[in-house]
Amino acid sequence: MRPQRLNPLFRPLASLKGVGKALGPLVARLVGGEKVVDLLWHLPSGLIDRRFRPPIAEAPIGVIATFCVSVEAHDPPAPHSPAPYRVLVRDPSGFMTLVWFRARAETVRALLPEGTTRLVSGRVDSFDGGRQIVHPNPIAPPEEEARVCRVEPVYPLAAGVAAGSLARLMGQALADLPDLPEWLDGPLQAREGWPGWREAVRAVHAPEDARALSPDHPARRRLAFDELLAGQLALMLVRAAQRERPGRALAPTGRLREPALAAVGFALTGAQTRVLAEIDADLAHPSCMLRLLQGDVGSGKTVVALMALLAAIENGAQGALMAPTDLLARQHMESLKGPCAAAGITPVLLTGRDRGRAREAVLAQIADGTASLVIGTHALFQDDVVYHDLALAVIDEQHRFGVQQRLALAAKGRAVDVLVMTATPIPRTLTLTQYGDMDVSRLDEKPPGRVPPDTRVLSLARLDELVAGVGRAVAAGSKVYWVCPLVAESETGDLAAAEARHAHLTEVLGPRIGLVHGRLKPAERDRVMEGFAGTDLDVLVATTVIEVGVNVPTARVMVVEHAERFGLAQLHQLRGRIGRGGGRATCLLAYGAPLGEVARQRLERLRETDDGFLIAEEDLRLRGGGEVLGTRQSGLPGFRLADPVAQGDLLDIARADARRIVETDAGLQGPRAEALRTLLYLFERDAAVRTLRSG
Ligand code: ADP
Ligand code: MG
Repeated sequence: MRPQRLNPLFRPLASLKGVGKALGPLVARLVGGEKVVDLLWHLPSGLIDRRFRPPIAEAPIGVIATFCVSVEAHDPPAPHSPAPYRVLVRDPSGFMTLVWFRARAETVRALLPEGTTRLVSGRVDSFDGGRQIVHPNPIAPPEEEARVCRVEPVYPLAAGVAAGSLARLMGQALADLPDLPEWLDGPLQAREGWPGWREAVRAVHAPEDARALSPDHPARRRLAFDELLAGQLALMLVRAAQRERPGRALAPTGRLREPALAAVGFALTGAQTRVLAEIDADLAHPSCMLRLLQGDVGSGKTVVALMALLAAIENGAQGALMAPTDLLARQHMESLKGPCAAAGITPVLLTGRDRGRAREAVLAQIADGTASLVIGTHALFQDDVVYHDLALAVIDEQHRFGVQQRLALAAKGRAVDVLVMTATPIPRTLTLTQYGDMDVSRLDEKPPGRVPPDTRVLSLARLDELVAGVGRAVAAGSKVYWVCPLVAESETGDLAAAEARHAHLTEVLGPRIGLVHGRLKPAERDRVMEGFAGTDLDVLVATTVIEVGVNVPTARVMVVEHAERFGLAQLHQLRGRIGRGGGRATCLLAYGAPLGEVARQRLERLRETDDGFLIAEEDLRLRGGGEVLGTRQSGLPGFRLADPVAQGDLLDIARADARRIVETDAGLQGPRAEALRTLLYLFERDAAVRTLRSG
């Protein structure tokens, strides 16, 4: 059970004052979670210094400053006039105008009653020879000087979440910070000069100067280290528990594999054979497998997964294959049905969409073992799914899942071997943060006959040509992906851009054009994707939500708009969607002019190589860790605070510390133990704590 003292952090955001039905979901989306702790992990990206207090007459133009003024006169616009609302204020040095566009007169009157003295803060503009502030904020009585005249943190925002509302919520969250036991190693903390946890959280939210925003700042480093330590410790505890559990030896007999492989209709590549041998060696060993299979998109991971699963089934046990979305689970079902039938096996499908009777029937088959192969989504590890005898879990496209979920599935069986498959070519340095001590296999060879897409870099100024080319490709029987970028500042902006492009293409090319984006309900999104995979749609306009791993063999063209805004690895992933059905595919990387020389060279790299790992290493070098995985703002998936590139040294320290903890106190009973358990709960590594209890 989570320690009580963490309760204030795990309250829902809705428990804060001022979070209603409208604001709640917007804030949750912005901060990436629904709990107070998620809000606290949303760190400032800038600051505004409101301590500057010049006299009005001497205030420099364009600078943020705070003034203590007396309110002279209100000058509201005539009814229905587009003119702004003005208020004349003064200090001993002179006059200034405060300006509001589209303001309610009552609001302004209440803020600045005539004849009162007020603190006002904002950016000073010059207008008509005088000084003005447009939309001054904050405005407060002089007693509130301490609140107003300070350095104010600036947070990344999203549509619908105003800076002021976020600041108020943050204030409430910070006011209620619990005091947590210190889990840091004393000498390490002393050496690094790190503050305690509560002090660190307060410090990162109250930056005094630009240095406090840097990943090198002690408070930021401390919190990043906490997160890395929690991650490494969780991985190592689970790994240690897994090593102790008696695994089972699964020796493949070939009884099912041989007919299945014959039905697949191709021979395994050298890389597939090698990787399968590595997996077989793990399976045959009487301890639990925890292996990561990395293979570029299209490298043929699915058949390797099937062979591994069949080995479990040949030994009389069950296998589970987990995909990140319903659609992908169903695609796996479709593509594996044939080879499974040849081996005399009928896989069952379990997704979040199955309800009622149908779901119960599937659950019964899983529980009594009649279902030997289960394909599905995260629904596979919900509490009410009980396996008869699960021996192997294969998790596809892992980076969409949290470590937590992976551990939950591993906990489903007596001794579950776990094979994680990812198409993300994660550089070796980052593999550690994501997967800890996993063994790694790589599929470094593509199936024969695969021609890399013809990748071209061109300016968006040639949009008309681009659209005409898409029209010709469609006429020639190809399907076309049109990818619109995600702009960090505003999701509604992205959506508007994608909608506008969709409308534009529909106007030029006709109605067989679909649109998918992150705001669609999953079922609706799947329906559009199915229309594109089937016969209803020719062109799919998408924000970056294009499902990882979706297979539309007739898609031979992809346009990426504003390609300069994507990470190279992400672009490489995207173009892996095309040309899966043979024939030369074309990937058109359209950039918004002007494009600098370096940016251009970056894109040109994609013309030169089709090696995902090479591209990932390069991307890491050029842009830093978060970019590699296409998660621009939040760093690595699963990491909220740590930046394993800028804070790379911390990862090594955290690994060493975690290893020492596990080696000396694997059951977490020693003097640091209670604090470390708190740390694991703080970062929601509950599954790792559970391994302690059972062990
Ligand atoms: P990914 O690694 O992206 O999951 P898939 O497993 O979906 O790749 O395989 C991509 C395509 O390559 C599929 O159509 C699959 O049937 C085909 N394929 C896989 N292995 C081979 C092989 N050894 N020879 C020929 N085609 C193969
Ligand atoms: Mg796949």
